[in-house]
Amino acid sequence: MEKDPIRFLAERPLGKLAKWLRLMGFDTLYESDVPKRVSKDLLEGRTRLTRSRHSYAPPSTQHAIFIRSDHLEEQLRQMIQELGLTRKDINPFSRCIRCNDILYKVNKNEIVWRVPDHIWETQETFSACRSCQRVYWPGTHTRRAGRIIDELMNSVLRTN
Ligand SMILES: [Zn+2]
Repeated sequence: MEKDPIRFLAERPLGKLAKWLRLMGFDTLYESDVPKRVSKDLLEGRTRLTRSRHSYAPPSTQHAIFIRSDHLEEQLRQMIQELGLTRKDINPFSRCIRCNDILYKVNKNEIVWRVPDHIWETQETFSACRSCQRVYWPGTHTRRAGRIIDELMNSVLRTN
């Protein structure tokens, strides 16, 4: 049976972690971006990520993870460990880091005005966000981030 995709709601101050989870392809809302009156459906079934013991404690029935560290690397390591994440769970660069929306592939010719010339000249694959229209391409940041995720996963596997 297919596992349901894991979805998160990151509390403050876990904005950086939220960005990285999006980068790994996880549907992640960040508390400060969520409007006060938000539809329940949007929050339902999300695993809450918190740095506050108070908010982690019952009576909350929602599944929550208490994030122990202030450091991003440790936070990611904890998440990989506790959720038993493997490369199969990860779909890097499929989601907008800024607004959490899913990216779609765009034709190079459609975005000629929206990226710097040297990028347009040197890159072949582009994707864009439906919400904010931001354009993404597999540049050096992408490769570096991909390597960091790989290294983290390897190090968790080694210590288990
Ligand atoms: Zn976006």
